[in-house]
Amino acid sequence: MTKSLFTKIFKKGETVFEQGSPGNCAFLIDKGLVEIQVEEDGIATPVEVLSAGDIFGEMSIIDGSDRSAKAVALESTQLMVVSREQLSERVEESDPIVKFLIAVLLKRIRSNLYKNKPKQIKDEDKTSTNIINLRNFIKSKKEDDENAVVIDKIKLEKDLKDALEENQLKLYYQPIVEFQTGLLAGFEALIRWDSPDRGMVRPDIFMGIAEETSLIVPIGQWVAKQAIKDFRYLKEVFAKNSVKRRPLFISINIAGKQLKDPNLFPILSKVAKKEGISPKEIKLEITERILVERESALEWIKRCRKKGFSIALDDFGTGYSSLSYLAQLEVNCIKIDKSFIDKMLTDKKTLSIVEALVNLSKTLEMTVIAEGIETPQQRDLLKKIGCNYMQGYLLSRPLPRDQVINVFVKDQDKKAA
Ligand code: C2E
Ligand code: CA
Ligand code: CA
Repeated sequence: MTKSLFTKIFKKGETVFEQGSPGNCAFLIDKGLVEIQVEEDGIATPVEVLSAGDIFGEMSIIDGSDRSAKAVALESTQLMVVSREQLSERVEESDPIVKFLIAVLLKRIRSNLYKNKPKQIKDEDKTSTNIINLRNFIKSKKEDDENAVVIDKIKLEKDLKDALEENQLKLYYQPIVEFQTGLLAGFEALIRWDSPDRGMVRPDIFMGIAEETSLIVPIGQWVAKQAIKDFRYLKEVFAKNSVKRRPLFISINIAGKQLKDPNLFPILSKVAKKEGISPKEIKLEITERILVERESALEWIKRCRKKGFSIALDDFGTGYSSLSYLAQLEVNCIKIDKSFIDKMLTDKKTLSIVEALVNLSKTLEMTVIAEGIETPQQRDLLKKIGCNYMQGYLLSRPLPRDQVINVFVKDQDKKAA
């Protein structure tokens, strides 16, 4: 067997796992054939032959029992390793009734493995083409489509793990400007995945999957470290080039699952200290949706403020929090969602909401950032209403660090920090 981090290659006749062994991962077949055998009284009976796109070994990692069958490579076979977290975490988080049903089904499948051993497949029929033809005949189109979605997701997850290991993740920075003075005030760090196979992937495509698993935790830690390091660099370049600016801040997006990461604050504090950045220059952006788990979110916000970080409530207006709840939150800033900015020029009610939010924030001593400003009309109206900061394509799209410098250090002599 040869081995890379997430791919394993087995030679013809090699055992992938033994019956009765503990199961700590499942496998997705990339290439080749795998025979599942059930051993009883020392006799191994083949029960199934699996080919590319099939998953096996998943039962043990779902319910923690030992392998109920043996798996053998029938030809040179490449397998993708599916980790325990990738599957079991999803099962753990599912509805208790679904969990119960899964447990019942697994039990039933296991006992059937022994009772209804199918007829042995003849050796001469064990070729990739025959097996694939047989499967295509048996499987319905719907089943195939559903399987394809799941397999694409598992592949995306595996590629994303590689991306983190292989430095394919990048941070872009979108400038934020103060309305009243027109001066640069900060940046939001926005993740991109520069994938060799998929091109530049936007976060909407992969951050959801990262959050469904625990991958968001190492990715979030990487974002935090990289954003603070880049921020230090940007500050230095702007200072050396005497760019007119307000005291700058860096905004970092924090996903719900990161609230449970015990290493997040220690990492943020350590990197900030090392780079000479004060915690108050760091804005952590959480969305309103996070607040559904009220108690833990409130506690997290308290800890965050105690450590000196600022907090922005992202996508404000799209989630659950009522205005009275906003008063209880110790957040420093709210970000009005793009959907309000889009509608406010044509819809009077939306405009009234935006005005009310800006006024309320002032009373609560919070600043307001308007997101997704695309037209001069939107900018002018928000300035008139008294919004503090603007962010949007009208000013600049999110850009790689060195291109952001080009926007603000235009014709001046660019002294590298
Ligand atoms: P978000 O935090 O609401 O970020 C703002 C999004 O709006 C960004 O999309 C930005 O490129 C886009 N945007 C800004 N101005 C305009 C505009 O004028 N017009 C339009 N049409 N769009 C504009 P992006 O970069 O694709 O990020 C999407 C979402 O992915 C983010 O929404 C955030 O929820 C998530 N995300 C991005 N980076 C990170 C990260 O490092 N960590 C976490 N947890 N989430 C991230
Ligand atoms: Ca954000
Ligand atoms: Ca937002």
